[in-house]
Amino acid sequence: MQDLIHYFIASPTALYIAVAIVSLCIGSFLNVVIFRTPKMMEQEWQQECQLLLHPDQPIIEHQKLSLSRPVSTCPACNSPIRWYQNIPLISWLMLSGKCGSCQSPISCRYPLVELLTAGCSLVVVAVFGPSWQMLAGLILTWTLIALTFIDFDTQLLPDRFTLTLAALGLGINSMGLFTTATSAIWGYIIGFLCLWMVYYLFKLITGKEGMGYGDFKLLAALGAWMGPLMLPLIVLLSSLVGAIIGIILLKVRRQNQPFAFGPYIAIAGWIAFLWGEQIMKAWLGG
Ligand SMILES: [Zn+2]
Repeated sequence: MQDLIHYFIASPTALYIAVAIVSLCIGSFLNVVIFRTPKMMEQEWQQECQLLLHPDQPIIEHQKLSLSRPVSTCPACNSPIRWYQNIPLISWLMLSGKCGSCQSPISCRYPLVELLTAGCSLVVVAVFGPSWQMLAGLILTWTLIALTFIDFDTQLLPDRFTLTLAALGLGINSMGLFTTATSAIWGYIIGFLCLWMVYYLFKLITGKEGMGYGDFKLLAALGAWMGPLMLPLIVLLSSLVGAIIGIILLKVRRQNQPFAFGPYIAIAGWIAFLWGEQIMKAWLGG
């Protein structure tokens, strides 16, 4: 590992190329995660319900969906996607955005998620350089991309990502990677509580639920990564991002669909993670 870090310090171009290739593949995997996780959760809920309602009926295991099984198929014609049709970006371009078997169009979101993952990953490399911070930053970035799209699609922020992210943040900061251990713990607590209070105030005043527990857990996770001092900036930025994207979505969709708050927290958190200190310094004039 040390040798690898020394090699990448000596040759930054090699680092950028390596991260670009790896993150395109990760982006391809994130497409599967984004598409399948909500379906897997739905299947798990159904199984739990069935177990409660009909405990005597056995659960059919062979239909169980996972990230690796069954192999990806075309949603239109169900023909399996072969490995050479599954190369990030390149395959989509080679097939000119159409299924190799039935020619029905493949959403341009797949290559866009791959490009976005690669782009954001390269920004992380540019900010941190070859270091443990960069590696942790990449993991945070990839998880936030998955969470953003899952929440956008389904208004869900799965615990398996938010809680894992929080645990990881506490773990790496126990060694002081981004902030002190004490700061990480308080970031987690305050991150959770501040949105929780907003949620209850909003519910008291309007009688509606404006956000969900997933949002609190996500902000708590970001607090665990960056400490409590970054939380006001994240909340402020997320309102700003939310206002901008909200206006765009309203214009595009022309209808008032409920949209999730999680993507805004995730985007704001990512910005704060990379440039929070500079923004705070400029903001506070120090
Ligand atoms: Zn097809």
